[in-house]
Amino acid sequence: MPRIQQGSRLGAGGAEGELDTRDWYDNLFNMVKPEQLPRPPNLVATVAARLRLEIRGKHAVGEKLATEASLAERFGVSRTVLREAVATLRTEGVLETRQGSGIYVARTKDEPVFRLTRAVERERHLRSVYELRFGLEVASAGLAAIHRAEADLRALGKALAAMDRPETRPAADLRFHATIAAATGNAHYQGLVALLAKELSGLIKEANSAGTDYRRPEVEVLLAEHHRIHDAIAAGNPEAARAAMEVHLHNSAHRFSIEIRGMSSGHGAPAVKG
Ligand SMILES: [Zn+2]
Repeated sequence: MPRIQQGSRLGAGGAEGELDTRDWYDNLFNMVKPEQLPRPPNLVATVAARLRLEIRGKHAVGEKLATEASLAERFGVSRTVLREAVATLRTEGVLETRQGSGIYVARTKDEPVFRLTRAVERERHLRSVYELRFGLEVASAGLAAIHRAEADLRALGKALAAMDRPETRPAADLRFHATIAAATGNAHYQGLVALLAKELSGLIKEANSAGTDYRRPEVEVLLAEHHRIHDAIAAGNPEAARAAMEVHLHNSAHRFSIEIRGMSSGHGAPAVKG
């Protein structure tokens, strides 16, 4: 009997701890003929697994699949079941539906995709987001100090100026970090930092509306942290840029009562606990 494996691959999707039944289906469909199949645990999941296999074996990215009606007929299921199976694959990023046009292959399954799945426990999720941010953004600051162009410095200066006003501050803060990621000249940093920033601003919004675990930073402290990062990048000093980013991220994590441990070089020990 094939084992049902714990989902562990990147791009497996779904909640943490969810069982990945794909390998089970892969094995199953390689071993037995369709007419010998045991009663499936879930019809939608079965159809999704069949489709996934087909896409992996026969289709290329961008290819159009048969119509919903003909797929439903071929699998011998209702259009509702087929639609739900397609929705599952859409959530996984395997398929894409275009209004009025049809179902397309967005990626074949074996390409790894990173998704920021959420831990059930909020504190654990926050900690993982901050640990990732720390690794990415401290490195970004160092790279930006080396690779930044004049246009990057102008954009950083603009973002800083917009942080002076409360109404533009949150968006400008995000822009400041995105600009540093762009200034690395490495598109992957840019993409990952944007992903984390989006997640974090969602968490801050949630905290603000729940009135719980987030302490708003003191404005002068927050601005001083960003000015230090800007000045080090402008001066072309990667060491100072990394240290300044470390201070900012330590303080930012403290606002959520999170302590980032084991990642700091020591140069950026928090100067101000805000
Ligand atoms: Zn910031």
